[in-house]
Amino acid sequence: MNDSIRQRYLRSLPGVDQILQCEYLLEIKGDYPQRVINDSVRETVSSLRAAIIQAESEEELLNIEVQVEQLAQRALEKAKEILKPNLCSVINATGTVLHTNLGRSLLAKKAVEAVSEVSRNYSNLELDLSTGERGSRYSHVEEMLCSLTGAQGAVVVNNNAAAVMLVLNTMAQSREVIISRGQLVEIGGSFRIPDVMSQSGAHLVEVGTTNKTHLRDYENAINDNTAMLLKVHTSNYHIVGFTSQVSGSELVELGRRYSLPAVEDLGSGVLIDLSKYGLMGEPTVQECVREGLDVVTFSGDKLLGGPQAGIIVGNEKYIQQVKKNQLTRALRIDKMTCAALEATLKLYMDEGQAVRQIPTLRMLTIPVQVLEYRASSLAAFLKEHLTGKVSIQVIDGYSQVGGGSLPLEKMPTKLVSLQPNRMVTTAEAVERLRREVVPVVARVHKNQLLIDVRTVLQEEIPLLQASLVRVFKKF
Ligand SMILES: *Cc1c(COP(=O)(O)O)cnc(C)c1O
Repeated sequence: MNDSIRQRYLRSLPGVDQILQCEYLLEIKGDYPQRVINDSVRETVSSLRAAIIQAESEEELLNIEVQVEQLAQRALEKAKEILKPNLCSVINATGTVLHTNLGRSLLAKKAVEAVSEVSRNYSNLELDLSTGERGSRYSHVEEMLCSLTGAQGAVVVNNNAAAVMLVLNTMAQSREVIISRGQLVEIGGSFRIPDVMSQSGAHLVEVGTTNKTHLRDYENAINDNTAMLLKVHTSNYHIVGFTSQVSGSELVELGRRYSLPAVEDLGSGVLIDLSKYGLMGEPTVQECVREGLDVVTFSGDKLLGGPQAGIIVGNEKYIQQVKKNQLTRALRIDKMTCAALEATLKLYMDEGQAVRQIPTLRMLTIPVQVLEYRASSLAAFLKEHLTGKVSIQVIDGYSQVGGGSLPLEKMPTKLVSLQPNRMVTTAEAVERLRREVVPVVARVHKNQLLIDVRTVLQEEIPLLQASLVRVFKKF
């Protein structure tokens, strides 16, 4: 190609200032941060210059747009892209209720309102309004936690991993903690009991075997340097077959004999008996407290359905020690968590209200007939709008609880299955759905794209319908 043509193109390329001064961008001046607009224009021009330099034919050059107005438009698109939030809402069509990668629990409306209220205004976060003295941020939830669980005291930190670490550090630093080999759990995202233990400064003493641990195993390991008997709820796996583990009350009884505290990391921490709703019975926090465990820790955003938090409940004596630990200051919750947790716990004052208003509980207890109705309505809409493009069916399937909770629980659900008729991979459809303005995360099984309506909110249905139609129409 004649290089003079290339030179002519380079010369015709508008300058950054020329684009910034064009009418198109002057009209929207002030609507977007000027810095972002400047950067976008600069990038647009330099990428165009690179394209001209790299062009291999005159034809290719002819396709390169160098009009000022067009470049301004392109720069504005780029600026909008930069300003779009990275962390955005997605539609969870996987049916996994506590999807850790998708943010675990959705907050109840009341909790969202409380967060909004307390973050827009000043609050009495650490002010005792009755005395005018400095108050404690934990006081806003402590009483309610005690009343709901039956514990004497409570304190809340960032997440349950922090809660476990804090409890170990407070009660067992440089001393030994006895735990069964069947309970050395790893939770997704690198929470491993042995590692948390060493971080906390406590020494791990493993007893028993993977499948069986007896009370005498704990007893034989007790010595002068023992600080605690620890039980960890195997929340994300089950050992079945020839197995036995020591119950919380047996551990408590052993601890009393040797003046040692018995502590349980409960993981999920459910406050209502889920077996009433056809789900597997998980030990509730109340039951653990009633068994006499000195301290119990659990998550705020698993089955509880609240904000990310680590809740520690137990005997006043230990809770006081935890509150005095300097680490508590480093792991403390912020006012938004405090507000969301208080509002969520208030809903538990009436179980029916909790099940209706806390999204996690509501999704876990939706009757299958309701799911069938929702799946059929979605399928009917899609059949009407995607005639001939996709095979659409409603099929039986299972949803998962997720978040490392109730791993064996398979909740019957109804799935909308979409199978493209043309030779196109379902993986491609999945990827396109992820790139929608409100991304849709779905399941794939063989060549079927599966939509589990259990985790799709009613207000998201029109968006979901539109996205599915848009994506599959292209095939
Ligand atoms: C989930 C879980 C944790 C970690 O809780 P986060 O709130 O995610 O930090 C710790 N222990 C057990 C048993 C768990 O199930």
